[in-house]
Formats: sequence, C-alpha cells, structure tokens
Amino acid sequence: MAAENGEIFELEGYGAAGMSGTTPVVLKKEKTISMPHGSELMMLPQRRPIVYNPAKYKFEIIEDNPFEPGEKIFPVAVFNSPGYVNRHSCAYDDGGIKGLLPLFSYGAAGFGENSFCSSAILVDREPRQDLRQMPHKGIVKGVDKMRKKYPDNRLMRHLETCALEYGCPAGKNFFLQRYEAPLPTSTTCNASCLGCISLQTTNTLSACQERINFTPDSQEIAQVSLEHIFHVKNSVVSFGQGCEGEPLMAFKAIEPAIKLIREHSDKGTINLNTNASMPEYVEKLCKAGLDSMRVSINSVRENCYKAYFRPRSYQFSDVLRSIETAKQHGKFVAVNYLNSPGFTDSQKEFTALKNFINTYQIDMIQWRNLNFDPKKYCEMMSKVEGSGKPLGMQNIIEKLKLQYPKLLHGYFNPPKSLYQRQ
Ligand code: SF4
Repeated sequence: MAAENGEIFELEGYGAAGMSGTTPVVLKKEKTISMPHGSELMMLPQRRPIVYNPAKYKFEIIEDNPFEPGEKIFPVAVFNSPGYVNRHSCAYDDGGIKGLLPLFSYGAAGFGENSFCSSAILVDREPRQDLRQMPHKGIVKGVDKMRKKYPDNRLMRHLETCALEYGCPAGKNFFLQRYEAPLPTSTTCNASCLGCISLQTTNTLSACQERINFTPDSQEIAQVSLEHIFHVKNSVVSFGQGCEGEPLMAFKAIEPAIKLIREHSDKGTINLNTNASMPEYVEKLCKAGLDSMRVSINSVRENCYKAYFRPRSYQFSDVLRSIETAKQHGKFVAVNYLNSPGFTDSQKEFTALKNFINTYQIDMIQWRNLNFDPKKYCEMMSKVEGSGKPLGMQNIIEKLKLQYPKLLHGYFNPPKSLYQRQ
C-alpha cells in the first residue's frame, strides 16, 4: 500500500491481490518472484486498493488505512524490468473515473518474507537492458567518440538525446557497443494506438518521449548500423523504436540504407519492428536484405486489434499479408505480443493465437507488457467482444511450448546466429 505522501508500507493481516482482467485473484507466494532488479514501484492516485481479507475469506476495496482512521491509502503497482511478463495486473478499483493511468504497465506486487515480490514470469534471461551493465561513463565516452568520428550524422545526435536524456536502453547500448542498436527514422504513423508512447493527441495521456522530427538519410542510417555491426559480435540493428512513428512510412530512406549496409557487410542482423501495415514495402525490404521482422500486436482477433491500433489507412489483413510475405522470403518473424493479463490469456484469445501460429508459422513470441491502464483496457476489450475466462499466463506459455516446440519465447530481438543454426 502507499500512503498519501507516497510512502509504501505493508498492510499487516491482509493478503496481496492481483487482477486478471477485472477479476481479483489472491497473490500466492509460489506465483510470485522477488521483484526484478531495475523494476519500479508506483502508487496509483485516485484509485482504491483491492486486498484479500483472510479472516473473512473475501476481497475488499479499502479506502482508509484500517490502522490509521482517516488516513487515505492507495494501490501500489510494479513496472517490471525488461525480460519479465506480468502474470497479473495490480488490483485496484477506480470508481469508474474517466481519467486513464499514465502509459506504464501496472503489474501486481506484494511483500514477501523480507522483500517486494512481483507477480511476473521471466521470459528472457539476456541482460540486454540490465541497467547495472550500462555505466554512464561508458555512454559519455561512446558519445564523444562518435561525435569526433561522425560530426555531421544527425541520427547519432538524436541517439545521444535518447541515451543521455530519455535514458533509452537501446540508445545507451549503441554508445556502449553492445547487443542491439536503434535506427529511428519515421516522423509519422498510419495507426493511432490508444497507448502510443511517441504521440498522444486525443485523450488526457502524455507520450513518454518525443517523436523524432526528421528522417535520417540512408547514409546516416548505414553509418550507425555499420559502426555497430563492425564492433559488436552477434549485433542487431533495428528500425522501429519508441521515439518514432511507423518505420514503413520511411521506406524511401530505409530500403537504400539496407542495401548500403549489405554492400559493406553480411554480418549483423537487420531487424524491423513494425505494425506491418504495408506488405508491398515489406517485400521490397526483404529483397533488399532485411533479416527479421517483429510485428506489434495486442490481439490476433481483428476487432480487438482494430479497437487498440485504430489503423488509419490499412486493414488487419495487410498485417497478416506482411507476415506471410516475410515468411515466404525465409525471414524470421516475431510477434511483439502486448500482454494484458486476463485478456491475453483468455480462452478466446488463446484459441485465436493457436490458429494464428498454425496459419502463419511465426518464429517467436516476444511477451511484452502493455503500457496502458489495465482496467480500462480490459473493460474496453470486453465491449468489443467477449473473451471467455482467463487461463493463466504461465499456463498458456507452457502449453505453447509443448504444442510448438520450435516457437521461441522471449523479450528481445535475437541475432540471426541464434535461429540460423537451429
Ligand atoms: S504503430 Fe507505433 S508509432 Fe504507430 S500509433 Fe502505434 S505505437 Fe504509435
């Protein structure tokens, strides 16, 4: 729980609860892990915590601290660090208020023997975004080196802001020359996701970072990419970052850039994080030398997809055709599955997901936590269509592993060295 001043404390005598969709569940020790390093606890203003009262065997919404009458208390959620997918969302009541929570994911948290616990599942062990391995000194040194070597590269200057101001792990990794480098290129998008983290126009939300306001030219993109590819083993360079719109909208810069990179090296993995809205462009990028594509999807059911992505100039069928096209070209296709417990692991979504995997033979599911008000999201989706009861996140992941042994599960874009040898 949190007090009005933000102080977080354990509420003796009550059990921690989580939420699957809008249904509260008791958080059991065996279904939680120690809160991962780098995770953050957040107090939820204007909301009331739902707790489990073991004395009465029931869930209760409480407003005031039962031990300090008149003192207001608030729910506490955990924003789990990369590599962990939420098993349950934070349990809270919002009294039906209109306002949305800011664009974060709100995992369920509790207090164990002597530490905070998360109701989360480890899906990727790679320390790609482990902040303990990203020394600020090393980033600054990398920035200086790139400034001297590429004084006129605007994309590198943009990545400096990402790394030093926004604290973007992908931007930091470029200057630390590790794992995956980001290649933001697009100032526009042909979708308008409810939870877009780079541009918010309609509701009361603010975007997490500003969208890039220029499209780098293919030379600038190739310089960043080759600098990374030549200095990082099993490197990945990725179009489609949180600080841009849809990369396919910058096709005219990306296609020649990929050709330029492949003229100089066949090493490294060129990846496209995308809403996959334009299959014709996807085909051309595959021919130019793209290695892998990661498609962002909140649901594989068309109605639920459209309700969240709100596509402006494409159809869900275009997304599916892009996946087919990339597979026909022998490319590695991952789904960036934006998870909300209770919806993602629901009967109907899981059935649809298995049909989707059978049809499109995707290579990987990246389990990502949807950065959106979970209660409002599930209420919205339930108005679009019923989903049936939740099956449990761990349960569906285990079932998928049994049914599709070749399907990879994780969080990060893998280097081609990983899947080409399989
Ligand atoms: S596809 Fe990406 S850039 Fe476009 S609206 Fe959605 S989150 Fe934003």
